[in-house]
Amino acid sequence: MGGTASVGSSGKPGLTEQSDSLAAMTATRVALAGSTGSIGTQTIDVVTAEPDRYELTALGASGRQPDLIAEQARRVQPKVLALDDPTHADRLARELPAVEVRAGPGALESLAEEADVVVNGVVGFAGLPVTLATLQAGRRLALANKESLIAAGPVVQRARRTPGAELVPVDSEHCALHQCLRANDVPSRVAKLVLTASGGPFRGRTRDQLASVTVEDALAHPTWSMGPKITVDSSTLMNKGLEVIEAHELFGVPAGDAGWGITFDQIEVVVHPQSIVHSMVEFSDGATIAQLSLPDMRLPISYALAYPDRSAVPFGRIDWSQLGRLDFEPPDYVAFPCLALAYDAGRAGQTAPAWLNAANEVAVAAFLDGLISWTQIADVLKATLDRYDGTIASDLGVVIDADQRARAEARALIERMYVE
Ligand code: MG
Repeated sequence: MGGTASVGSSGKPGLTEQSDSLAAMTATRVALAGSTGSIGTQTIDVVTAEPDRYELTALGASGRQPDLIAEQARRVQPKVLALDDPTHADRLARELPAVEVRAGPGALESLAEEADVVVNGVVGFAGLPVTLATLQAGRRLALANKESLIAAGPVVQRARRTPGAELVPVDSEHCALHQCLRANDVPSRVAKLVLTASGGPFRGRTRDQLASVTVEDALAHPTWSMGPKITVDSSTLMNKGLEVIEAHELFGVPAGDAGWGITFDQIEVVVHPQSIVHSMVEFSDGATIAQLSLPDMRLPISYALAYPDRSAVPFGRIDWSQLGRLDFEPPDYVAFPCLALAYDAGRAGQTAPAWLNAANEVAVAAFLDGLISWTQIADVLKATLDRYDGTIASDLGVVIDADQRARAEARALIERMYVE
């Protein structure tokens, strides 16, 4: 995809055939899946900050927050509104007569046909159909839903080969790596990807001190404002573990096939509590290139929309005279065992990451519901992964089946823990 918009699979003339000045006048059509979540609301900020540049043609959401999505639709006036849950579809269709309302199975996936770029801000494994539909339609996927890439890696990699398909990461660390790697023309000279982690709210605590932490404690993230699932993942360092697998999926495919051939041994995690350095790439000569900015998700969202250009609007600027210090320290693998579990699942590959992700979604939900303690999240993951059967991720059905079996295992384990 070149310029500010892509040639879709619809056969309509593409902007790449037109002059840059004309391309600059034509808005990029953006579809947003997960509009009522944290990424969704920030994407609307980014798009409305450059109204001549972007047109939000479609909004999609679970449909469980009808008032919020109605307000969003009145504000951005999309052509299409897609709802996973059809309960409030008729009401929204009456309230928004100019909008085509789609609801039920397949509604969110259908957004891929409405845009040049699809932002996937759906939470968890539920985002997989949007990821696949977007890539299979040959569109750009601005991916904030890391779980779909992690759980269904081999299936998503095949979809990425669709002509016109392009995946630009919205996850801040991977967006940083994407930027750092652009400074390099020689894939074989990448020595290491260094993912930074804020350390979350429990940085510096021992395993014993973590035994009694509450849901409220886990949701109090020191630097980032995010949804509850990812905030708990950040507190366990599972988010970083998932991001290690995400980095491998994004940049690990063999060099020459739009990847850099990165192995798990070349992906390192370092704790950086200020969340200013979003990640780094170290090269064979010892040079390291890092991407720095304030912790604001609107920047990676705007990057994924504008790439290979950049947003004309800054979402915060660093005041270098006030920045002071940047600290780095190794992660504590004893207090935060989820990180090592993720490396293990990533190295095992195939459906192991699907098992890891499914068990984690179940365990985090159980923690948020008060059924298990914070330290038991890692216990559930370990015990579920002990039952992993090594199934090859040959197609989507196999991945969905692995996800469901891992969820059932994790739920059974939690039930036993809760009873005891
Ligand atoms: Mg991240």
